Amino acid sequence: MRKKYDFCIYIGRFQPFHLGHLQSVRIALEEAERLIIVIGSHRTAPNIKNPWTSAQREQMIRQTLKDEPELLARIHFVPVRDQLYSDNLWVADIQQKVLAIADDDSAVAIIGHRKDESSYYLDSFPQWSYIETGNYRDIHSTDIRAAYLSRAPEASYFDKLPVGVQVNLSTFQSDPLFEELCGEYTFIQNYKKAWSVAPYPPTFVTVDAVVVQSGHVLIVRRKAHPGHGLFALPGGFVDQDETLLEGMLRELKEETGLKVPVPVLRGSIVDSHVFDNPGRSLRGRTITHAYFIQLKAGKLPAVKGGDDADKALWMSLADLYVHEDHFFEDHFAIIQHFVSRV
Ligand code: NAD
Repeated sequence: MRKKYDFCIYIGRFQPFHLGHLQSVRIALEEAERLIIVIGSHRTAPNIKNPWTSAQREQMIRQTLKDEPELLARIHFVPVRDQLYSDNLWVADIQQKVLAIADDDSAVAIIGHRKDESSYYLDSFPQWSYIETGNYRDIHSTDIRAAYLSRAPEASYFDKLPVGVQVNLSTFQSDPLFEELCGEYTFIQNYKKAWSVAPYPPTFVTVDAVVVQSGHVLIVRRKAHPGHGLFALPGGFVDQDETLLEGMLRELKEETGLKVPVPVLRGSIVDSHVFDNPGRSLRGRTITHAYFIQLKAGKLPAVKGGDDADKALWMSLADLYVHEDHFFEDHFAIIQHFVSRV
């Protein structure tokens, strides 16, 4: 008998894919002929919230269903990037990707579980029916990652995972990235603990410099957690006794040694913008003020990593896109914001 829907859409991060997700996949395949799994946060740099690439996450789901090829054959996998500063762009991307698979007149439903306020996006697709799955065994990916990255015994979380995912998680423990992420997890835990004695949850203020010259952006590589080894904008926390502008110029000099006089840098600021997505930093609420400095075309000035940066470099705008998944926090989005305007 033909199923109620032609397509069911299931959006998630699946970091990692657990038995609650699997239950939803099964419900979706009962209700619809085909299932489109939207794997979110595509090309996000690995961090303790997003340890696995979209290809690895797809692989975990495929491995989970490997003994049910007839089900697997009815699933499409669609990786989708986050658009931290535009839900409209994110929704449009999903609309387009679904339309590339389904016809205009297909009967479509979106499936999910409104678990908390982070599920608000489920209301962004009113053109599709909605299937609420309910909560399955109160399983949360966040708890599984916490156990995994704090090296808790596998027995404490394996009962929440399909066997295919268990195998992947065990194998991943021999990847050097696992060690890196365990280190980052400990760092973030300690960081939050240190601030837990404050009377209110802190809001941090940072500054970043987006320096562009002749099709290149000035980038640093991070020396320590969080984001050890990732590319980032020169920047950091504002000191108590300086303005945002002074803080940005200080961080820029400290981290890159940029050989351009400060008055020239000041005179080359063409734009600034506040980036305040509440989830942009794993350390806690962090609002950054980014300054766009456009230098005159010509030979790229010498730079040298210092302070929190083990390296400073001029990255071509083409390379920037190649390395999108190696950028710390929302720094790739910040650069995109400015370079797409000039
Ligand atoms: P998730 O893997 O946590 O959850 C996926 C779905 O499974 C959700 O509907 C969730 O409620 C459900 N679920 C989780 N545990 C369950 C359980 N035990 N039983 C039943 N259902 C359960 O993924 P998520 O974080 O909700 O994924 C949303 C994705 O969309 C992310 O990648 C996010 O970044 C992205 N997003 C992007 C934007 C933007 O870029 N502007 C906006 C909104 C969402």
